[in-house]
Amino acid sequence: MAWHVVIAGGGFGGFYAARALERVLPAHSARVTLVNDANFMLYTPLLPGAAGATLDPRHVVVPLRSQLKHTDLLIGRAHSADPAKGTLTVRRIDGEEVILAYDRLVVALGSVSRTLPIPGLAEHAIGLKSLSDATALRNQVLSCLDIAESLDDPAERADYLGFVFVGAGYAGVEGLAELQDFASRVIDLYPRCRTQGMRWVLVEARERIMGEVSKGLSRFARRELEGRGIEVLTDTTLREVSNRSATLSDGQRVLARTVVWTAGVKPAAEVARLRLPLEGGGRIVVDSKMRVEGHHGQIWAIGDCAAVPDPAHRGRPCPPTAQHALRQGRRVARNVAATLGNGREKPFRWRSLGVVAELGHNQAVAITAGVRWRGLPAWFIARTYHLLLMPGLGRKLRLLVDWNVALIFGRDASDPGRLGSRTPLEYSDEP
Ligand SMILES: Cc1cc2nc3c(=O)[nH]c(=O)nc-3n(C[C@H](O)[C@H](O)[C@H](O)COP(=O)(O)OP(=O)(O)OC[C@H]3O[C@@H](n4cnc5c(N)ncnc54)[C@H](O)[C@@H]3O)c2cc1C
Repeated sequence: MAWHVVIAGGGFGGFYAARALERVLPAHSARVTLVNDANFMLYTPLLPGAAGATLDPRHVVVPLRSQLKHTDLLIGRAHSADPAKGTLTVRRIDGEEVILAYDRLVVALGSVSRTLPIPGLAEHAIGLKSLSDATALRNQVLSCLDIAESLDDPAERADYLGFVFVGAGYAGVEGLAELQDFASRVIDLYPRCRTQGMRWVLVEARERIMGEVSKGLSRFARRELEGRGIEVLTDTTLREVSNRSATLSDGQRVLARTVVWTAGVKPAAEVARLRLPLEGGGRIVVDSKMRVEGHHGQIWAIGDCAAVPDPAHRGRPCPPTAQHALRQGRRVARNVAATLGNGREKPFRWRSLGVVAELGHNQAVAITAGVRWRGLPAWFIARTYHLLLMPGLGRKLRLLVDWNVALIFGRDASDPGRLGSRTPLEYSDEP
């Protein structure tokens, strides 16, 4: 009888685990099922590019069916699990409940935005975590410019021309940089807005932006943003949000119709329903081989939803990055295969040799093998890195075409608004 390996979550961790299992497991020795709530993997590092209109939103995803040849795909939400019985309950997209019996389970459900009980945050702020967030943000910037342009009174225009990002990690810095770049390129189409000018503010609770990169690169990223007129406020938090403004911990009220919340992540809600041991932050407790405590040889957890010990920093869990998740996915596949008689289990040993972060305006910061890069060379490295990492030749070519078209012809400034939602049919008695 073939073993059944179930992977819950088809993002960076789950997709790379499934791909590696296809390679390391002998044909017909096991059935692998990947459960994901969409039939694609979202390539999140390119999400700011989709928000900033250098990339078509469909081109920042990897279609799972065309990349995974021998994996069964079940589209639905993993809802709960019973480790004693070895079952995972999934709500399929048609609402039906499916119970999957597994011999081996890999949990890779990723994370969601971590919100705080700040007045007005849930009602008025936007996240930058999904494809629809990226599309909504781009449309929001354009509709703010469109409305501001139609107003005669400059005072009334001010809040439409204010944009606040809270949280200066990858998502916040890259998201703000790309969107500000986009807005500053299309603003020539809005003469009143161009004359009045926009206000872009980045708010960060810690003493520096981009905690993921070295202090030198973080300083460079800050100077680059400030050089473009973006206000960077560190040691500052968000106190309150309304539909017209953001109030900060230093007391200032920034007029803004657009407040973007990118201040950290927490594990997906379903993780708590899997009956697995969790640490204080809600992540699944695993050892260095990514085996879940109390379920060795049967259940593993990887990526943002797991507290995998960081080989680079003793006593700390790995940071929530795509770089870590995809390497954990590859390693966990080999460890799962080892328990089925193929190879040996090994701990997760990877240490990052590089970081790249695009800042729009053909600028970026990067570290590769200890060498620091800034500006145009860093931007070239960042794009080459993503091009190499994006799975599939067709997907790589789509990125290349989008980037080059945007470089030559500029960004598309149309607001497709409700694109993707269904327009009700109108009935008429007339034939
Ligand atoms: C805007 C942005 C920019 C980023 N830039 C970078 C960067 O430049 N470099 C970097 O290293 N990292 C970056 N990151 C972080 C990176 O995206 C994550 O660390 C990485 O995706 C984690 O991989 P994962 O597999 O744990 O989770 P994910 O990649 O999020 O995958 C989880 C998958 O599970 C699915 N899922 C969730 N719940 C369920 C459920 N109940 N049932 C079924 N499926 C479910 C999700 O839809 C998703 O497909 C960025 C993140 C964001 C938001």
